Amino acid sequence: MTRSAVRAPLPLRLLLVLLAPLLAAQAPAKDATAPTRDANAAILTELPFADRRDFADAQRGFVAALPDGVIAGSGPRPVWNMKAYDFLAKEEAPPTVNPSLWRQARLDAIHGLFKVADRIYQLRGLDISNMTIVEGDSGLIVIDTLLTAETAHAALELYYQHRPRKPVVAVIYSHSHVDHFGGVKGVVDEAEVRAGRVKIYAPDGFMAHAVAENIIAGNAMSRRAQYMYGPLLPPGERGQVDTGLGKALARGTQTLLAPTDIVVKAEDERVIDGVDIVFELTPGTEAPSEMNLYFPQFRVLDMAENATHTMHNLYTLRGAEIRDGNAWARYLDDALARFGDKSDVLIAQHHWPVWGGDKLQAYLAKQRDLYKFINDQSLRLLNQGYTPGEIAEQLELPKSLAQEWALRGYYGTLRHNARAVYQKYLGWYDSNPADLDPLPPVAAARKQVEYMGGAAAVIAHARADFAKGEYRWVASVMKEVVFAEPENAEARALEADALEQLGYQQESAPWRNEYLVGAQELRQGPPKLAGPTTLTADALKAVSTELFFDFLGVRLNAKRAEGKHIVLNWSFSDLGETHVITLENSALTHRIGAAAATADASLTLTRATLDAVVLKQLSFADAVSSGRIAIAGDATKPAELLGLLDSFEPRFAIVTPPEA
Ligand SMILES: [Zn+2]
Repeated sequence: MTRSAVRAPLPLRLLLVLLAPLLAAQAPAKDATAPTRDANAAILTELPFADRRDFADAQRGFVAALPDGVIAGSGPRPVWNMKAYDFLAKEEAPPTVNPSLWRQARLDAIHGLFKVADRIYQLRGLDISNMTIVEGDSGLIVIDTLLTAETAHAALELYYQHRPRKPVVAVIYSHSHVDHFGGVKGVVDEAEVRAGRVKIYAPDGFMAHAVAENIIAGNAMSRRAQYMYGPLLPPGERGQVDTGLGKALARGTQTLLAPTDIVVKAEDERVIDGVDIVFELTPGTEAPSEMNLYFPQFRVLDMAENATHTMHNLYTLRGAEIRDGNAWARYLDDALARFGDKSDVLIAQHHWPVWGGDKLQAYLAKQRDLYKFINDQSLRLLNQGYTPGEIAEQLELPKSLAQEWALRGYYGTLRHNARAVYQKYLGWYDSNPADLDPLPPVAAARKQVEYMGGAAAVIAHARADFAKGEYRWVASVMKEVVFAEPENAEARALEADALEQLGYQQESAPWRNEYLVGAQELRQGPPKLAGPTTLTADALKAVSTELFFDFLGVRLNAKRAEGKHIVLNWSFSDLGETHVITLENSALTHRIGAAAATADASLTLTRATLDAVVLKQLSFADAVSSGRIAIAGDATKPAELLGLLDSFEPRFAIVTPPEA
């Protein structure tokens, strides 16, 4: 190892000796191979690196930054740490990072408070997303509150160090993704909202989407997000460099306050604290509930997350419902037609602004054409009979779009978006009956490896292909060997090496993270730390009781429930609602309305008690013994039902077969 080649001073050497077992456990990331160096070097000749306009735009209006960009939290590690990304100070990309991604990562490392226009400021690079502050007549209007209360609070305090300390009088959530509302309690006090002194505006459908997306399939999404964002990869030239949208996800506390004012009209003009704002709903675009904002007094257009400096996702790798590229293009065109010639600057809730009427109009037009192209060309090819992988492989942007930095695939990619269009219109099945019911992964892998002459023969072939740089294939075929023989250390190591080189070559930050996390887990196993849970107390409070019972149904273990029939009445004294839940045929259904006369038991409780039990702040038995839950009828039945529910493993296997 090169580390020992340099002789460290004695105290440091002692420390290294003490730390040796720990360091050994961290399998080191490898260097770029010759094919990876060549692939990355080729990018330098393909894209217009001489165009430095984005760097000027990202720095324009700079007021101040936090020292080192560090935001401490209550834990041992800071919740936000830009200092860990000092390695990005170098202009030239190392061979282990795609130079186009390196450029984006350097742009996303520019952080601080920026003046956009008179009375409009942005805090950028203090979390994955932006906070925009509009100075009203008496107070502040905050657009989006970052991911966590700690980062949002620090962002607002940085603003106050340089601008008058006026109170926040309104918060606007641009859309239903948590990196745009999770920090709300860091900028406003819940009591102020309750008292009506602070208004919270949100687009139609905000609450349902803000919580629903994170709960029903939440465990899988959280685990998959570890692959997509790479929070457990060390930042560095051989590790995490960016997310494509911003540097990283902050590690603080995610909160939620329900909006007080919902924007329901497609276009709605309001005056908030003396500021005219035109809200334009854009449902079904980047988020199911989203809106653009236009400020006629300041000639500023805020495109929320509908037009940022990257190709965005029609499908997000953490897992989510498919987005509609056609609708997205249409709403971009609406914004262009309606506000394009009335705007001097375009901002968004990620990345830096675009200044100048001509520039921002061209920018919006190209963003529109990007989504229209992906949607229509994928549909053209699927109508010609091509299947998802074939469409992804052959789709290529026209040069006029491919040479635009803001359309490069830093977050979404052309390949996975093309597959998304297929999924939206045709679903998972490619119509080839051989693919209708293949053997499951482990059984198929065993057969494949056997037919190919056994693991040793496959590995020998794959080593030759690895030397030639055929990493996509090596990763695929080694996956078969790993699934056939999970203990095969050689196969795991070779797959990890292939994934790592693929990671080094990616322009997309999520693709890089996916590959590097895969390599890390093949070498070290799944993470020791559980990922952050999406089921926070604030989110749970916002969940309707119906959605709550839907989620109980998702947790029902059908095998254990076989043959059981349980009916329970749940009477919520605070809501004045009665729900009847019925377990029969291994399915848990619920109905709102009158209590069932045939119920095994009837429970009376408050919703807050139920939430406390779900959050494990209170056990069900304690809730009963303390009288917070009253049970009439057969008191054993509720506990029996709860005993039939699965708890989800937050770090389930991904690159190795599921554990039996
Ligand atoms: Zn976002």
